[in-house]
This record gives sequence, C-alpha cells and structure tokens, in this order.
Amino acid sequence: VELPIHDAVLARAAEFGDIPALIDGTDGTTLSYEQVDRFHRRVAAALAEAGVRKGDVLALHSPNTIAFPTAFYAATRAGATVTTVHPLATAQEFAKQLTDSAARWIITVSPLLDIARRAAELAGGVREIFVCDSATGHRSLIDMLASAAPEPQVAIDPAEDVAALPYSSGTTGTPKGVMLTHRQIATNLAQLHPAIPAGPGDRVLAVLPFFHIYGLTALMNAPLRQGATVVVLPRFDLEQFLAAVQNHRITALYVAPPIVLALAKHPAVAQYDLSSLKYVISAAAPLDARLAAACSERLGLPPVGQAYGMTELSPGTHVVPLDAMRDAPPGTVGRLIAGTEMRIVSLDDPGKDLPAGESGEILIRGPQVMKGYLGRPDATTAMIDTDGWLHTGDVGQVDEDGWLFVVDRVKELIKYKGFQVAPAELEALLLTHPGIADAAVIGTYNDDGNEIPHAYVVRQPAATDLSEAEIMMYVAERVAPYKRIRHVTFIDGVPRAASGKILRRQLRERA
Ligand code: ATP
Ligand code: MG
Repeated sequence: VELPIHDAVLARAAEFGDIPALIDGTDGTTLSYEQVDRFHRRVAAALAEAGVRKGDVLALHSPNTIAFPTAFYAATRAGATVTTVHPLATAQEFAKQLTDSAARWIITVSPLLDIARRAAELAGGVREIFVCDSATGHRSLIDMLASAAPEPQVAIDPAEDVAALPYSSGTTGTPKGVMLTHRQIATNLAQLHPAIPAGPGDRVLAVLPFFHIYGLTALMNAPLRQGATVVVLPRFDLEQFLAAVQNHRITALYVAPPIVLALAKHPAVAQYDLSSLKYVISAAAPLDARLAAACSERLGLPPVGQAYGMTELSPGTHVVPLDAMRDAPPGTVGRLIAGTEMRIVSLDDPGKDLPAGESGEILIRGPQVMKGYLGRPDATTAMIDTDGWLHTGDVGQVDEDGWLFVVDRVKELIKYKGFQVAPAELEALLLTHPGIADAAVIGTYNDDGNEIPHAYVVRQPAATDLSEAEIMMYVAERVAPYKRIRHVTFIDGVPRAASGKILRRQLRERA
C-alpha cells in the first residue's frame, strides 16, 4: 500500500509506543512515539478546523525543536504542502518565499514571531500565523492539542500531491522551490533504509537543520520511521554538540564536512567521551578522504561514510552502506541505491556515456526525481530531460565496483589555460596544512583576463605568520602545475550555507 508521508513515517508509532522519539538536547524534554502520533493528529484536526485545506501551502519557520516533526506531519495530514523556511531568514527573504510559494499559513516559534509577522505583511495572502510554543496572542500547537475537532480525512494521492516544498540551498543562484510528492519522499526513505538501518536504541543527534532536505530526511523522517531516538539541538555549537553526544550516548552522527573538520582538528574534542558513537556519515558537500580518515582515527571509528544527493532527488541516490563502511574505497560518496539509474556523461559531448574511471556529469533517473520546480517550468525542463534523466550539475566518476566519487560542481570548475581545476580538491589539500584552519577556492581573473585558482584561507590561531608564499609553495609541491594556487587572500571565516556548503558565490562577489 502506498501511504502519504506522515503515515509512511509513523506507520509503526503505536508499536514503538513509549520509546522516546524526540529529546530536547538542551533541557531533556522528551516526546514518546505515542505522543508524536497522538499530538500530530490533534494538531491536524485543529489546523483543518482553522481552515487549512488540501493543497494549501504552509510555511514551517522554526529552528530544530522537538515540536518540529509534529508540526510537519500535522500539516501534511491536514492536506497541506509544507515549505520549510530558514530560521535565520530575514523578513524580506521569508516574504519572498511566502510569495513564491503562495503560502496561506505559517507555523513559527515565539522568538521568531516578529519576523514571521513582518514577512506575512510584506507578502500578503497569509491567513493565519500559528506558533509552536507559548501563548503569544496567536493560536499555539499547545492549545491545539486540546482540540476536540474531528481528525481530518483528506484524500491524498501520494503520486501527485506535493508533500514538501523545500528550497534548494541557493549555493549557485537563487534558491528554487522543489516540489516533492508524498511518493517521492516516502520511496526515497525506503530506498535508503537497507543501507543505513537504525532502530530502537539508536540515538541520532539532530544538529543539521530540519528545514533542509538532508536534515529532514536523515534526522527526522528516517530515524522516526525506524524507532530510533532523535536528540534535537537548535543550532551548531561545538561544545554543546560534543556534550550532547557524551550525555545522550549518541550512536550515529549525520553531519556535513565542516563538522567533520571540527571533529578532526578542534582541541575541545579530546575533552569529551564520545565512545557511544558507532558511525559518522557526511553529506551535502565534498569531503576529502584524508580529512575523513583524520576524523575517524581520532574518534576510533570506522571511516566516515558519505551520502550524496540533492534537494531535487528527495534527496538521496548514493550512500556507503553501514556494512561496507570499513571496506569502501576512501573518498567515495557511496553506491547507487536500489531502484535508481545513473549515467556519467561527457562534459564536452553530453550525449556520450563515459566508462568507469572517467569524470563527467552525473545524471540520475528514478522514482525520487522531483516533480519539478514550483512555477519554473523552464528550469524544470533544463534540469530533467525528456527521457526522465535529471542533470545534477555535479561532476563525478565511478570505479569498476560502482563506487561513486564526486569531483565538484560543473559550474564551479576553474578553467585554467584550458585545464579544468576542481576547487574542492585544492580546498582539501589546503586543509592538510597544519597552519590552516579552513579554506575555500574560487576562480578569479588576473590582469590578463585569465581565470586562476584563488585561495581564501583562515589561519590557525597559532599560525598568524603563515604567508601567501608558503601556502602557494605547499600546494605547488603536491599538485600538477596547472592546479597551483595563484593567489591567496586571508579571511576570518569561510562563508557557508546552513547545510555546510561553501558559499563560493559570496567570495566571488567579494573578489
Ligand atoms: P542550489 O541548487 O540552490 O544552487 P545546492 O545545489 O547547494 O543549491 P542542495 O540541493 O542543498 O542545494 O545541494 C545539493 C548539492 O550538494 C549537490 O548537487 C552536490 O553539489 C552537493 N553534494 C551533496 N552531497 C555531496 C557529497 N557527498 N559530496 C559532494 N557534494 C555533495
Ligand atoms: Mg543544486
């Protein structure tokens, strides 16, 4: 049977009963599976009573909290499409998303209420703002739990109806609303499950944001579907994160490369007991094999596994299965999951399929490919061809055993004198220098108008005398001449999206 997303995730909630589904990592407040199941049905009833109808877009505007999943599943049960909003969005940014998605409802949290109000004013069209937590003059989810309204019986077509409308990270341009149906999200969960099974007794730490498709899948839908416990943190703070791993005996971490970097390099890590961890998975941006190894060696864990995906793919296509973590080749983002097809095609001749060992654009076809971009039919056709292949815009190659290696994005490749240089490779190399805390590489133009690899470097506090010449020499000794760094700028921090991606666009604007 095919189920809408709330039923697909909570199918076994009654069986899991008193097992903690969600724990607030800051104050220990706990919701059991039975509570999440009961609460989201009550809130769905109240939302329906308030006027939420099938197909309405509801904006969920909240940092990670234990109420987030209840709000999400309540909204989909009432028939709404949930568009998740960055909790740090300005009123203008939020208003843009409200307008673009034609949202009629907002669920926010009291600390963000002013921003939500202003966004709603700017956008128009919002009928009501609800809050998750305390009384504020707006209806709250807490009041809604007391609702006596009947549970809504909305007929959802999992194949057609859009459950979620996440926005892509906006790394390469303006974020686009990605229409994901109930079937696309639920199918992808089922596809990923055999590779990374979890269950009662497993505890994951939700530090990546739920509003982004990676956190929504790996830290909310997948663990709740399997009976694991999700410990929730509202934001990433290294010491709070490490303390939560220690105190809640976290078993699995789903992170992005900046957190792997911190785990590998930060002195504070040694002060915590992280022995409960069984594995670490990284996704969302390129992770260098040396950095992954440094992290797992330090923590005494199997090599950090990776997964690969994008918002438009609901989101996953590749993962290193748990049982292959020790044997997978270093640096791989994983193997293709069941029911999904992949091609690697030439960048110069897009009709030409490439054999193992050669790099080209990654194309994907499968049941998790998005329905389309909201209101952007041209962008949708540019992305998904008439045969159903989604052009990821990422460069990669597979080895003889089918392990995928992601090189970088097609658009980010630096063209140096006719050669192609992947910034991710240079960034990874720079991070192996003991005096470098963080780094980003982009193509900038020299006086002759030629594109050159340009590094932005954050020095370690103890390495303030590390010079441009020293860095350029370090790289030159280790790469082919065309990949050398031609210019270095020292900065205080690398700009990153909430999902951990380097915002090279911002550096380009600065340059
Ligand atoms: P936008 O499409 O708005 O520019 P975005 O592509 O960053 O933003 P997401 O959908 O969040 O938005 O990210 C998907 C991208 O993340 C992929 O296309 C790929 O470039 C990158 N990515 C995901 N996982 C990995 C990984 N394991 N290794 C390297 N890159 C990855
Ligand atoms: Mg993208």
